[in-house]
Amino acid sequence: ENTKENHSFSANTKQLLQLMIHSLYSNKEIFLRELVSNASDAADKLRFLALQNGNLYEGDADLRVRISADKDAKTVTISDNGIGMTRDEVISSLGTIAKSGTAEFFKNLTGDEAKDSQLIGQFGVGFYSAFIVADEVTVRTRKAGEAQAVEWQSKGEGEYTLADIEKAERGTEIILHLREEELEFADDFRLRSIVTKYSDHISIPVEMFKAPVPESEGPDGEKIEAQPGEWEGINRATALWTRDKSEISEEEYKEFYKHVGHDWEEPLTWAHNKVEGKTEYTSLLYIPKKAPFDMWNRDRQTGLKLYVQRVFIMDDAEQFMPSYLRFVKGLLDSNDLPLNVSREILQDNKVTQAIRKGCTSRILKMLDRMGKNKAEDYQTFWNEFGQVIKEGPAEDAANKEAIAKLLRFSSTHTDESVQNVSLEQYIERMTEGQDKIYYVVADSFEAAKSSPHLEIFRKKGIEVLLLSDRVDEWMMSHLTEFAEKQFQSITRGDLDLGDMEDEESKKAQEESEKQVEGLVERIKEALGDKVKEVRFTHRLTDSPACVVVDDHDMSSQMQKLMESIGQ
Ligand code: ADP
Ligand code: MG
Repeated sequence: ENTKENHSFSANTKQLLQLMIHSLYSNKEIFLRELVSNASDAADKLRFLALQNGNLYEGDADLRVRISADKDAKTVTISDNGIGMTRDEVISSLGTIAKSGTAEFFKNLTGDEAKDSQLIGQFGVGFYSAFIVADEVTVRTRKAGEAQAVEWQSKGEGEYTLADIEKAERGTEIILHLREEELEFADDFRLRSIVTKYSDHISIPVEMFKAPVPESEGPDGEKIEAQPGEWEGINRATALWTRDKSEISEEEYKEFYKHVGHDWEEPLTWAHNKVEGKTEYTSLLYIPKKAPFDMWNRDRQTGLKLYVQRVFIMDDAEQFMPSYLRFVKGLLDSNDLPLNVSREILQDNKVTQAIRKGCTSRILKMLDRMGKNKAEDYQTFWNEFGQVIKEGPAEDAANKEAIAKLLRFSSTHTDESVQNVSLEQYIERMTEGQDKIYYVVADSFEAAKSSPHLEIFRKKGIEVLLLSDRVDEWMMSHLTEFAEKQFQSITRGDLDLGDMEDEESKKAQEESEKQVEGLVERIKEALGDKVKEVRFTHRLTDSPACVVVDDHDMSSQMQKLMESIGQ
């Protein structure tokens, strides 16, 4: 055609595709799940826009996705009558496999297939999984309400073409030209079983064509009526979260997660609740196994999918989760919000507040339970998201105690860098007479572990929490106590071990203090303005001296943090 244009993918696409095909090869049938998932999203988006403008349905409001195979042409076609895409949307959605952060992504690849495929999953390859089984993909699409349709075509080798086409039916048709070795997928039976396995929970009908049956004769010569061919729904086609918990299998919950969470991995755990009463909503909340590779990207929006009375309203409704729980994925279906709700309305809304409060405490409880009953899962969770949870005490004062229960630390109990000591465990191990929770913050785990301030604690067998994450100082400035025990930094001010000191050593300390009075004075003179105070200490057993900060002064880590941001 004369309108055909050549375009290049953004950098690294070819490499990324090759890698993806290679590492997902053992699980190649999931291409269908991804494409059906996109079709379902497209239906959701159309239904949402049609709330304002019914004309977008163009007289066809029965949204569905159809799958067909053609053995002779060696193709599989997935077509939906959802929202469709404009030319620009095709370019931005299908022409930019390499999202921001791709370079960093490549750096993390190891060459180890299992690890790499996990990374690829985190990166999210959705649509491009089509190239696992196809050596050429054609996308024909027309956006609802627009006249012009467009065709995108690519062999997945760094380039694609775009052409204007005619397309009567609204929506998107994806034609996979199967690789020679993948012709098994051009088979209705095979496709049907894949849909049943991965996409049964999709809430719009997934249809396949039932071939016509010609008129025939039964065994006794009776006439059997001819049957016309027809499209037939092959999935359950009800929104999963509206079904009764007891009727939903673990497998279904897991597959549904991959769809709503746009994740390739299974979730770690989930909670499905129908809340009735003053505010009525259903929540289905998942904790992922893996952090997305761009979790620390500040611009990245995250949040829950919002439905109002089963109608999809928006993705990433971040108003329903506090920021320190931004890793939670899933959806909310509210009966109280208006269908025309916008982000602005959500911002300052009683219903939002009530749902947010409910969801927050549900997640905190779920995590607490996991910590108690499934230590291994919890450790996976903590290693992945602990740093985010640590923002909690500062952000959510009302839930401080519940958040503190979730925290895990390294400590002198094991001297290992893995953070697996809870405050409850610490308190159980407290020594006779100990009434504080001791901790030290340093720039690295090694520095924390070898802090000279620890000497007296090690000698007396008192456990000290070893903190060295970037957020730790910030977090500790918002945590003053847990279970009525105060937190005490061992590098701050006068260290008073109180009842833990025995009489004899107290006496000995007083004596030695007298002996060095003169020395302290001389050091003070020598250091002058460089220090606020020189004190005799009992906290050291091997080192001769150490630097401490006063109880209310900024810690050394905090000072460095402030310097690093130019304060
Ligand atoms: P994701 O689904 O996680 O956004 P995908 O790679 O699966 O990522 O899809 C990329 C984008 O392409 C989608 O966000 C959507 O904008 C667009 N897209 C893909 N398939 C369709 C479709 N069938 N109809 C309309 N838009 C689609
Ligand atoms: Mg997708």
